[in-house]
Amino acid sequence: MLNIKDLHVSVENKSILRGLNLTVNAGEVHAIMGPNGSGKSTLSQVLAGRESYKVESGSVDWMGQDLLAMPIEERARSGLFMAFQYPIEIPGVSNAYFLKAAVNAVRRHQGLPELDAMDFLKRVKSEMKAVGMKEEFLYRSVNEGFSGGEKKRNEILQMTLLEPKLAILDETDSGLDIDALKVVADGVNRLRSPERALVVITHYQRLLDYIVPDYVHVLAGGKIVRSGGRELALELEERGYGWIGESAPAPK
Ligand code: ADP
Ligand code: MG
Ligand code: MG
Repeated sequence: MLNIKDLHVSVENKSILRGLNLTVNAGEVHAIMGPNGSGKSTLSQVLAGRESYKVESGSVDWMGQDLLAMPIEERARSGLFMAFQYPIEIPGVSNAYFLKAAVNAVRRHQGLPELDAMDFLKRVKSEMKAVGMKEEFLYRSVNEGFSGGEKKRNEILQMTLLEPKLAILDETDSGLDIDALKVVADGVNRLRSPERALVVITHYQRLLDYIVPDYVHVLAGGKIVRSGGRELALELEERGYGWIGESAPAPK
């Protein structure tokens, strides 16, 4: 599904990712862990196509296509979903309008008929109930004035409505209380299916008590320095990142 090969990325002439390799197949849940500043968000930003991140070399194959050559909207329409560490606010655009436009863009891409207002409202209201969001959030501007926890719930709402093929969640757990954490985990777990893959980026192992990953990777110094099963996350929880950091080159 996703195949990242020897990816090198720089930001403002500073090299951040330095030879990252990662393969994600349908049906798998991967966790990417690693110390602060190791390049985890850089990876999600470059996959999303943010301009300031410069790909120096390497390749990203996304379902047989060159992801790095795809326009940003095309990446989303083709079933790639990103939840960012700091979700953006869109003043003046209602959450309902935004969600409906996003869902219908994906449906058009899949050759499905668009949802009309009634069908959409029915779906969105039932999903909102599942993530514990009040209906009034439909009529507020996207993320504007939302608390941290409300933004994260909104990201999960977007994700469950869009039913992506691959969802990448960047520290969707940071700063969350236990209830919001469970909402995130439930949302992810409800999406788990043999046709779909999930990549959960997290600094802490706490989220992985609720989302049990098939694979755990440690990103340090701009590349994946260790991969294993769930036990690797538990080991990191116990021993910290120090014992792994040694084996990786320090960022310049
Ligand atoms: P992580 O998510 O693992 O904490 P990041 O990918 O956010 O790490 O950051 C990796 C490194 O890249 C850090 O040293 C950070 O300061 C730098 N970096 C990331 N984005 C930018 C940017 N837009 N401008 C300058 N430096 C950046
Ligand atoms: Mg960070
Ligand atoms: Mg980050």
